[in-house]
Amino acid sequence: MGFMAATRLRATGSRATMRCVDISSLHNTPEYIAAQTAAIRQAILRESGNLKQPNFECLGTEDLARLFDLYDRAFFSGLLAQAANARIGRPLVFRLSSTMTRAGGKTTLYRRRIPGGQVQAHYEIAVASRMLFMTFKDVQRPVVVCGLTCTNRLEALQRILEHEIIHLAELVTYGKSGCGGRRFKELAAGIFGHAGTKHALVTPMEHAAAQHGIRVGSLVCFDFEGRRLVGRVNRAHSRATVLVEDAKGLPYSDGKKYQKFYVPFGMLSAASACGEGAPQIGEGESERGDESADT
Ligand SMILES: [Zn+2]
Repeated sequence: MGFMAATRLRATGSRATMRCVDISSLHNTPEYIAAQTAAIRQAILRESGNLKQPNFECLGTEDLARLFDLYDRAFFSGLLAQAANARIGRPLVFRLSSTMTRAGGKTTLYRRRIPGGQVQAHYEIAVASRMLFMTFKDVQRPVVVCGLTCTNRLEALQRILEHEIIHLAELVTYGKSGCGGRRFKELAAGIFGHAGTKHALVTPMEHAAAQHGIRVGSLVCFDFEGRRLVGRVNRAHSRATVLVEDAKGLPYSDGKKYQKFYVPFGMLSAASACGEGAPQIGEGESERGDESADT
């Protein structure tokens, strides 16, 4: 099964050739994948005003668009964007997300009804830029994305984008996509040599732990409306959830009442730094931090 892209030879459309890519038949050699992805890496470093080095400090949606275009040409004969466009009638949209803290990327088909009853749709590829920038920074460890070890931020971005490209190719071809499925894994392995669908980018919690020594269970203090509050980190995603003992709060399993605060990591200090103690929170209330998440 393949996605098709019609190439009109004349403006009248009287003669048209149909070019078709059967994505399930694509099996690239490791050498081809290595050469093409390296060429793409060199091209974006040469062309982009943002990506000046592999551990780049800036990234724009135009860089995602350009990377996608390079991938489309190298791996799909330039037909993937055409096929997506032909299916939806609108170009692909790229987005950088500072709030995505589990998934490394996301590919979505958005549909909305516009006045007059018509349905307008577009595909969007989003990349978790905040996590990407936390990776290859303070935390020193191997970073595996899609089953492949990445040595710098650009390689991690490429693996994430490749994963999202498979999602898009699946959506365009089959109308739905899921990276838990066998078909997805076979496509990702055949086209990009991926050996997995997870990422191990540095999460906000891991970053906070490395930078400030703060983790789930840590006793922390922060300022709120002129008061200094002390509590315990109960959960951490883009911000920390801190439980502060308060008679007006909600009851928890340890029999005490707590108010819940969502606090940016930058506003938290270890409670030892404030010279204060705080109550323990019952075991059952603590939630696990981020683990490796779907790419
Ligand atoms: Zn996925």
